[in-house]
Amino acid sequence: MISEKITCDICKAERGIDNHWFLADDTSTDNPSEGKIKAVEVVEWNLNYTQYHAQLCSIECTGKFISKIFFSKESRDANSEGSNLSSK
Ligand SMILES: [Zn+2]
Repeated sequence: MISEKITCDICKAERGIDNHWFLADDTSTDNPSEGKIKAVEVVEWNLNYTQYHAQLCSIECTGKFISKIFFSKESRDANSEGSNLSSK
């Protein structure tokens, strides 16, 4: 019942009816001994999967999203609490 427009997190394309979209989420975890372990979970488009935050219009954009998580040296997107701003 979400009425707002759905747009791709990577290329900002709007979702059409027939498009094959994907959902993805950053499932990285912080391991005390090994540091951050980066992980991404990807599923086919499914409206029941509301816990997935990234909406991706194609496998290409999904790949870009994965690289963004895996190869970003900084913290993840600023949609977390943002209370931990102490860098280094
Ligand atoms: Zn896209």
